[in-house]
Order: sequence, then structure tokens, then C-alpha cells
Amino acid sequence: MTDDATFQRAYIGLGSNLETPQRYVLTALNELAMLPLCRLNAHSRLYASRPLGPQDQPDFINAVAILDTRFSPLALLDQLQALEQRHGRLRQRRWGPRTLDLDLLLYADSHINVPRLRIPHPEMTRRAFVLVPLAEVAPELTLPDGQRIDALARDMQQDGLRVVLPER
Ligand code: AMP
Repeated sequence: MTDDATFQRAYIGLGSNLETPQRYVLTALNELAMLPLCRLNAHSRLYASRPLGPQDQPDFINAVAILDTRFSPLALLDQLQALEQRHGRLRQRRWGPRTLDLDLLLYADSHINVPRLRIPHPEMTRRAFVLVPLAEVAPELTLPDGQRIDALARDMQQDGLRVVLPER
């Protein structure tokens, strides 16, 4: 018998823009589903978005996952960073190309501000490639400060963001 009371709901942003980014994101979703002490509850479709910062790099593929977890926020971050490393993530320049980027967007109603981890993720409300897939999987979700995700996503410029998987 499992004790559901100890699961907390976390939201994970996934991104990739190197080599075969759709495959990286799909593989990462599978790997999230295999993590111990976690249940992958749902994930969005895959979206393509133009890169932030330097434009001489391929488009990003993004998705958002809902992960129910018994890990603490920092222990979950450790798991996400281990997955990034397994994918040979390159950190050559800020906002440059990367094989796999995993962001912990939200963890229950937590506010966390320590050097390794800020939750809610400080950039999430400025990024259509986070808000739009997040609103797809959790339209009723509100941020800890009360802002509604669906309203934030609707008001956001969706410059170049498009669904790539599943194909229509
Ligand atoms: P980036 O590669 O730009 O996603 O930044 C990774 C760095 O951000 C790592 O050193 C993390 O410890 C730190 N970080 C702070 N808050 C978060 C968060 N909510 N999710 C993922 N990484 C975070």
C-alpha cells in the first residue's frame, strides 16, 4: 500500500536544442517517469520556440511535466541535474545551445530562495515556452502569489511558439 499523503506536486520545464532535441525531450520524459519516489502525472505536447539570446543556434523544443514526488525540493533538483549530466549537457555560454535543460518551476506552494534553487522559477512568468505548455497541462493552476497560469499564458506574446508533437 502506498501513502499518497507524502507526495508533493512539482512542475518541471524541459528544453533542448542540440542534435535531436525532440528525442532528448521524449527520452527525458521517460526518465522522469522512471525516477524513484516519483510519479509522472502528465506532460504537455512538445513545442518549438526560437532561442533566447544568441540567434545562431537551432530552435528549442520545450515541454512541461507534472511530477508527483516524495523527494524534497533540493533532492529533486539533484535528480534533475543528474539527468542533465547524463545527457552530456554542454554549458559553453549563457543561453547557448544545450542538449537538455530541466528547470524545477514549482514545488507545491513553496517559496524557496537559496543559492542553488529558486522556486517559483524566477523566469517562468516571462517565458511563453514555459507558460503555454504549463497552461495546457494545468489550466486551473495558480502561482503561490495567486496569479492564474492560464491568464498569464493568454496575455503572453507567443512569438514563434508552435506545437510540433504530436503532429496534426
Ligand atoms: P540554467 O542552466 O540556466 O537552467 O541554470 C542552472 C542553475 O540554476 C543551477 O546552478 C541551479 O542550481 C540553479 N537553479 C536555481 N533555481 C533553479 C530552479 N528552480 N530549477 C533549476 N535550476 C535552478
